[in-house]
Amino acid sequence: MKKRIGKRLTVPLAKPYFSSSEESRVREVLRSGWVTQGPAVAAFEEVVGRYTDAKYAVATTSATTALFLSLYLLGIGPGDEVITPSFTFIASTNVIMHVGANPVFVDIDPSTYNIDVSKIAKKITKKTKAILSVDQFGLPCDYDLIRRIAEANCIYHISDAACALGSLYKGKRVGGITDITCLSFHPRKVITTGEGGMIVTNKKSFAQKAKILRHHGMSVSDLVRHHASVPINESYTEIGFNFRMSDVQAGIGNAQMEKIGFLLKKRAAIAEKYTRAFRDSTEIIPPYVPSDVQPNWQSYIIRLTKGNRDEVMRRLLVDGIATRRGNLAVHQQEAYRGRQFPVVLPETEKAAVQTLALPIFPQLTKHEQDYVIEKLLFYAKKSA
Ligand SMILES: *Cc1c(COP(=O)(O)O)cnc(C)c1O
Repeated sequence: MKKRIGKRLTVPLAKPYFSSSEESRVREVLRSGWVTQGPAVAAFEEVVGRYTDAKYAVATTSATTALFLSLYLLGIGPGDEVITPSFTFIASTNVIMHVGANPVFVDIDPSTYNIDVSKIAKKITKKTKAILSVDQFGLPCDYDLIRRIAEANCIYHISDAACALGSLYKGKRVGGITDITCLSFHPRKVITTGEGGMIVTNKKSFAQKAKILRHHGMSVSDLVRHHASVPINESYTEIGFNFRMSDVQAGIGNAQMEKIGFLLKKRAAIAEKYTRAFRDSTEIIPPYVPSDVQPNWQSYIIRLTKGNRDEVMRRLLVDGIATRRGNLAVHQQEAYRGRQFPVVLPETEKAAVQTLALPIFPQLTKHEQDYVIEKLLFYAKKSA
């Protein structure tokens, strides 16, 4: 690596990818005068629904509200249990608490970091209403096996696919595979609307209920009301929420969906280069990808089995390279400690201290990635 003169190279963890098309879509929305949920949201739902092979799509303010709404519309509440991993972003568990249900944590498979499907069955009780799985870092969990368990026990399967837009499971895009799937458009994900989320489902009744609930329980949409030739006095059939995405956000989303293929290709090339670079390392374990799935590379996660992960992160940051721990263990967070009956999740706890997310985003240059690889190999060896 050549010595750098002048400004130090800094490499962020993630970066949204925008071009002039996002700006022009937003300008169109502003000029239309319709900025709340309207035609741009409807178009965004249509394109994401089609892309994920789901019959229905309902945009929301975030994946968190999409997940909350999913649990709520399925009638999951106090006294119910929801089986879920603890090794995840905390929002997937928070929503279970917010509907008043109890999360029942299952350990992860240490190779994929997804819920260990073989450990689900023994956690099912009379109170279990759903399995809320997570496609961790964009890697699809084993949808077929989870569906089989869910069907055999007459419970729902809700997929937190916040990270997994564009990922493939047995050749099928994540989305229409399960009863209900939730997506995120936060800037850390593969496409962004700033903030935003979506429920995709093949069940008409779920979609209808979600649409009413996200809009104060109102029986008609604003768009229908405003375009009606006779005045419509709306009625309220449910006690609802305001979880509406705005047309400004959907305008950005529509431009992002036009380039999703390109964005995913860029990510895949970066991931491939990392994996090649770490192949011979004895300190770094690159991500494992089962043969029947194709991740979208929302994150690139490595495991450091020797040495001190946090020390490596500190040293990389001194050199201008941003990294992040792979994930947290929800049951170890202060907000959750003591609430949970004793949980034994050795793989979750190990992964929480050993995993590390590396910079990955479409604009990452060859030069920047070489720099990350060189520094990481050096510090990983040094810390081991
Ligand atoms: C990002 C993320 C969420 C939350 O998404 P928001 O759109 O920010 O609410 C939920 N679950 C997982 C697994 C995530 O990675």
